[in-house]
Amino acid sequence: MAVKVKKIGLLTSGGDAPGMNAAIRSVVRTAVYHGVKVFGIQRGYEGLIDGEIEEMNARSVTDIIHRGGTILKTARCPAMMTAEGREKAAAVYDALKLDALMVIGGNGSLSGALELSKLGLNCIGIPGTIDLDLDCTEYTIGFDTAVNTGMKAINKIRDTSSSHERCSVVEVMGRHAGFIALWCGISGGAEEVLVPESGEVNRDAIIQLIMENRTKGKSHNMIVVAEGVGGSVQLAKDIEKITGIETRATILGHLQRGGSPTAVDRYHASVMGHEAVRVFLEGAQNRIIVYRDGKHTHVDLEEGLNYRREYDSSIYDITKILAI
Ligand code: ATP
Repeated sequence: MAVKVKKIGLLTSGGDAPGMNAAIRSVVRTAVYHGVKVFGIQRGYEGLIDGEIEEMNARSVTDIIHRGGTILKTARCPAMMTAEGREKAAAVYDALKLDALMVIGGNGSLSGALELSKLGLNCIGIPGTIDLDLDCTEYTIGFDTAVNTGMKAINKIRDTSSSHERCSVVEVMGRHAGFIALWCGISGGAEEVLVPESGEVNRDAIIQLIMENRTKGKSHNMIVVAEGVGGSVQLAKDIEKITGIETRATILGHLQRGGSPTAVDRYHASVMGHEAVRVFLEGAQNRIIVYRDGKHTHVDLEEGLNYRREYDSSIYDITKILAI
């Protein structure tokens, strides 16, 4: 009797993250190595619903390990929020006779995968988001590149602002989580870091800090603000108005999404992509590949998405000690 060839679908979804291409390359090459057919799906769930799908081979992923973005393109797909849209996606999976759907994306994308798993699809999630806001894993693909881009921008702003003895407000990515802001803050030597987890911003305390720093001989202050906190332009205006110190706001925005992935991102993406195919071949159903305690492993999709990690304020406390 002929052995049935296994088939997987592969898509990237949500915000793009540097290292997604390295993950695509790893999934495709590991699958091909093991004789598994891979179907690349364009534009995330949009392409699954619309049937924008092509078979990939080892050469389809040549020369992409160093590129930011995603060769499969990505999209936010409103149709996935409806039962009808998800049923269409499931029908395409069935028509192609796929044995698994590999989803590279963040919290939302993997929530979509969980919904599809309820319709009988076998979904394997690979965490790809610059925000590091998936609590079940200690690493998400794209984080290191985004932090390095943020830190390099802060270095450049620091050069000019310290020459002019200005105050700088730099807004970095991170809608719901302050990891990028904290890492950029600590590695960029910030005086203050504002993260969504800390709640209300105490504008008066920030202004007082800047005044005190002046009396201590600090001629320049760097305030790092997470996107989810926002209000950077207004904060800069308020600081300038009340302290008289020239203050500029810089919003890094999508600059932090792009760029060639760092070695750390390529490494995690390559190992996580390989792990996704390996656990699939072992017969695993509906898993998320995670990095925990220094190892790549996998957890149940639903349990992983429901897992909540406590916000650890100790890193913020360190930034304050180092900013005296
Ligand atoms: P990032 O962290 O970079 O924003 P993400 O994967 O969290 O990435 P989202 O925009 O939240 O990005 O989600 C991407 C897509 O996943 C959505 O456009 C939608 O198609 C699908 N999705 C999100 N949440 C759900 C859900 N609860 N049910 C079904 N599909 C969902």
